[in-house]
Amino acid sequence: MERPSLYVVATPIGNLADITLRALEVLKRVDAIAAEDTRVTVRLLRHYGVSAPLIALHEHNERRAAQKILQLLAQGKSVALVSDAGTPAISDPGAVAVARVREAGYPVVPVPGANAAMAALAAAGSTAPHFLFYGFLPQAAAARRRELAALKASPYLLVFYEAPHRVIASVADMAAAFGAGRTVTIARELTKLFESIHTCNLGTAAAWLAADANRTKGEFVLLVEGAPEAAATDAGAAHGALEILLRELPLKQAVKLAAQIGGGRRNELYQLALEMKKAVIRD
Ligand code: SAM
Repeated sequence: MERPSLYVVATPIGNLADITLRALEVLKRVDAIAAEDTRVTVRLLRHYGVSAPLIALHEHNERRAAQKILQLLAQGKSVALVSDAGTPAISDPGAVAVARVREAGYPVVPVPGANAAMAALAAAGSTAPHFLFYGFLPQAAAARRRELAALKASPYLLVFYEAPHRVIASVADMAAAFGAGRTVTIARELTKLFESIHTCNLGTAAAWLAADANRTKGEFVLLVEGAPEAAATDAGAAHGALEILLRELPLKQAVKLAAQIGGGRRNELYQLALEMKKAVIRD
């Protein structure tokens, strides 16, 4: 630890053993630790025999706390930044302080480790090649539904964080917005005593959660299958283009261009083109 730096340190999301050797080493060596809730962090530090002065850094004082961090760095001291659980700045405070420190020209050093979204993804068994980390949906039902409507066509696996008292309403809204057939993985209390990972269709998820009061206790990550390829593309645009192009071009060429314009599977557009041709002949 030669240059004064800000270390962004991931802490466990439940199981206290989920902390890296490097994280412990850094926490032991820094001059101060900026923590989202100092009472939560004290428990972790006590467990590992770490004692360093703590600075409160939460969503309501992040700019002021960033100033304090900058003062310490200016004095040649190093600081660690932690949140209550997992990786700071991921649906947690920290990004403002990190930006300030980087702007001021000090090194910001990530010390990676636990993260609830990654833990859920690792254990869900989804073969989706891409995912979109959304984090928390809006709390108000109307805003949440608007947001879900905007996400409907996303082809990527969607990763949400959700609070226990909203999880049933959220999966019900997801079923309404995305359709009942999509798969959802409900990852609860990861790394903790009552860890559970359940996969079902969105259409049955709310009832499954409601069937046992224990199923809505704790912390949740929801992984929702992305839109099927055809729905994710602008099918309307592809179909419209196909209709026009078929009037002027050979079928194969029309299909190729329509797929380029609107997206979608070529073999599906090909079938559609054949039907359109037949319909024209019949007319
Ligand atoms: N920074 C954290 C991270 O790296 O994952 C996330 C903090 S965010 C304020 C807290 C949310 O993360 C919870 O409401 C829940 O959605 C999710 N979460 C955190 N720990 C979890 C766990 N052990 N099991 C399932 N979800 C968890």
